[in-house]
Amino acid sequence: MKRSFIREILESIDEETISFAGGLPNSNLFPIQDLRNATLKILDNPKVYQYTISNGINELREQIAKRYTKEGFPTTKDNILITTGSQQAMYILAKFFENKEITIEEPSYLGAMNIFRLNNLKMDGVKLEDDGINIEGFEKSFKNSKLAYLIPDFQNPSATTYSEEKREEISKIVEKYDGVLIEDSPYSELFFEKKMAYISAKLPKNSFHLGSFSKTLVPSYRIGWIRADEQKIKSLMIIKESIDLHSSGFVQYILAEYLKDEAKYEKHLQSIRDDYKVKADYFSEQLNLIIPEFKHQKPKGGMFLYGSFKDKIDTFALIEKCLKKKVVYVPGNQFYIDKIPNSEIRFNYTHSSFEQIEKGIKLIKSCL
Ligand code: PMP
Repeated sequence: MKRSFIREILESIDEETISFAGGLPNSNLFPIQDLRNATLKILDNPKVYQYTISNGINELREQIAKRYTKEGFPTTKDNILITTGSQQAMYILAKFFENKEITIEEPSYLGAMNIFRLNNLKMDGVKLEDDGINIEGFEKSFKNSKLAYLIPDFQNPSATTYSEEKREEISKIVEKYDGVLIEDSPYSELFFEKKMAYISAKLPKNSFHLGSFSKTLVPSYRIGWIRADEQKIKSLMIIKESIDLHSSGFVQYILAEYLKDEAKYEKHLQSIRDDYKVKADYFSEQLNLIIPEFKHQKPKGGMFLYGSFKDKIDTFALIEKCLKKKVVYVPGNQFYIDKIPNSEIRFNYTHSSFEQIEKGIKLIKSCL
């Protein structure tokens, strides 16, 4: 079992290196003052220091449920299990489905693939196209596996967003074979144009919908959740309890306090979307200008820009040179099951300044 390439890279680079590698949100956008105020409000209450129930505090689950219901996906607090980041949500699900087959997109999220491997899930990769997973390939794989892990909104790494048609087709296939969809949605709120309806909303009994506050508020709180049928939540709680009893109660109370002001949270989300859109546009423009041979789609949301060189370039080998010049990205092969070198690259555009974006892309050009 190998460690995540991205986490190893993040540990090895120095301050001077321009990193397009991690999935770091822009720290300048953390709503520090508002989180500080929320913390001050709960700080003197002894209950925030006590053990709490394993599925998460009622107030926070109610607020999360309310957001789903508002979007037309009826949900109560009993459909929600609070987890320590959505990373833990995936771990809990991988334990639940241990040793089974699972259909995934290729490329897919490295962190999920590592968890699946660790829990002996057999991954079957299906090609991801510009408008979502290849439907014929999906049906062929899902017929056997009856379990799928998809990231339909601004996917990590590819930034792909599923079309309405593909969302509909996926839900029909999941129903047809009475299977289960794990829909991972940490980037769904970071849309530049519009929010798409969750596939899980069409499959309330056959889905696990994963959410997180890491990309919308702060990753350090490590709070995510699973939305599922009440019976399924009860089964997952057994696994959750065996891992850590419950996620930090203190942090959950801060979040519940902060989220009371819905308008403030909405305003905050909009400020992230505005900032990231400008960054995404700038990154794409600079790439077109400096490395026109790198083909990519301008992102419509999320935190990543993905593409590929027109000619065959081993982007995994290229990283050695780039590290020496103090710039880093994630080579595309990392997001495939077999990790065979390819010409693809994932760039994170949210964490760097405009100057760093331009300088970093020029440094990569000089390594080609
Ligand atoms: N799913 C995807 C697709 C991600 O990109 C990430 C973070 N990079 C996670 C889950 C995990 O996020 P967290 O545990 O911080 O909620």
